[in-house]
Amino acid sequence: MKGVNQEPNEPNYDMFRLALKSTAQRLYPNYANCDWSGNAGYDRNDPRTYFSTMGCRTANGWDVNGFGQLKDGRGNICPVTIILPTLAMIAKNTYDKNEADTLESYFLSILEGKIVEAKDMLIERFEWICSQDASSAKFMYENGIMAGYVPEEGIRSALKHGTLAMGNLGLAEALQILIGEDHTSARGMAFAKEIYQLFKDKCAKYKEQYKLNFGVYMTPAENLCYTAMNRFREKYGIIPKVSDKDYFTNSMHVPVWKEINPFEKIDIEAELTGYSSAGCITYVEMDSSTKNNIQVLEQLVNYAMDKDIPYFAINTPCDMCEDCGHNGEIEMDYCPVCGGENISRLRRVTGYLTGDYKTAFNKGKQKEVEQRFKHTTLLKE
Ligand SMILES: [Zn+2]
Repeated sequence: MKGVNQEPNEPNYDMFRLALKSTAQRLYPNYANCDWSGNAGYDRNDPRTYFSTMGCRTANGWDVNGFGQLKDGRGNICPVTIILPTLAMIAKNTYDKNEADTLESYFLSILEGKIVEAKDMLIERFEWICSQDASSAKFMYENGIMAGYVPEEGIRSALKHGTLAMGNLGLAEALQILIGEDHTSARGMAFAKEIYQLFKDKCAKYKEQYKLNFGVYMTPAENLCYTAMNRFREKYGIIPKVSDKDYFTNSMHVPVWKEINPFEKIDIEAELTGYSSAGCITYVEMDSSTKNNIQVLEQLVNYAMDKDIPYFAINTPCDMCEDCGHNGEIEMDYCPVCGGENISRLRRVTGYLTGDYKTAFNKGKQKEVEQRFKHTTLLKE
C-alpha cells in the first residue's frame, strides 16, 4: 500500500523487506496491490475492504448487492471455464472465407454464444447451491463467514454477495490458431484485448441484469490444463505451438517457455489483468543465482505494483535435501552435499505450494513446471 510499506521512509517498510526475504527462501508471501485500480472505492480506514484474494487468485470485485468493496464474509460461489483453443478450432474449421466476417470476428461471435451458455450454467449452479438449507453450514451463516444472512430469506441472502466467476483457459494457444502469433506480439495483444473486452462487457451486463456478481476470472486450471489438452488432441491431433505439449497455458499468462525478462513479462500481462474482476495473478520465475538478491525482488514487486498488477508472485527454486537439510536448486537426483536421495522439490503450481510437485500434480502441470523459463537469467546480460 502506497504510503505504508512501499518506500524506505514509510512506516512498515521493514515488514516489506522481511516479506521479500521470506519470498526468496520459501516463495511466500505473494504481493497484493492495495492501490490496484480495480479496487477503487475501497476505504483506507477499513482493512476489510483492502484488495485481497482467496488463496490462489480468486477475488471479490465490487458487490452489486450493497457490500461495495467489502472482502470479508464473501467468496467465490462457483466458477466455469471457457476453453479458448477449442473454440478457436471450431471457428477455424467452420469459417467461410466468402462471408463478410473476418476469422477473428467470427471467433468472437462463437465466443459470445459460449459466454451466454456459461452465464446460464453459473446461474443454474448458483440457484442449486442456494436451495440448500442454512443448517448444512450453520456456522458460516451465524458467524459472518458468509455475511448478510437473513434467516427468513434463506442462504441466498448471504451468497448473493459472492462471485460467479467466468473463467478462461489457453489464450496463447487460441491466438496461435487464429492469427499465428500469441499476445507477446502487438497484433496478438490487440486481439487479446478484444477477447477480454467481450468477457468484461458481458459480465458487466449480466451483473446489472441479474443482480449477481459476474466477473472475469483468469482460471488457474490445475487439472483442466491437462484434461482439456487431452480432449483437444483426441479431436485435433498435434498442432505445433498449440497441442505439442501436455498442457494449455494458464488463462492470459505469457507462455512459460517464452524467453523474456521479468519486466517484459509484467508489461505484457499488465495490459490484460485490468479486465479481470474475479481474480488473476502474475508470476515471474527467478533462477537460483538471483533469488537471494533482495534488491532485485524489491524492484520487481514495486515495478509490478506501479504497473497496476493486482496480485503478484515470484517463483524461486526451493529444493531441500531431507537427509542433511541442504537448501537450493538441486539439479541432480541426489544431494550435492551429502549424496542423499530424499530430495523434496517445493514448487508453486497454480498458486499452491506443493511438498513435491512431481507427486502432487498431474503430468500436464509437471511438464509446465519443467518448461518454465527463468526470467531473471536475462537480467545479467
Ligand atoms: Zn544432503
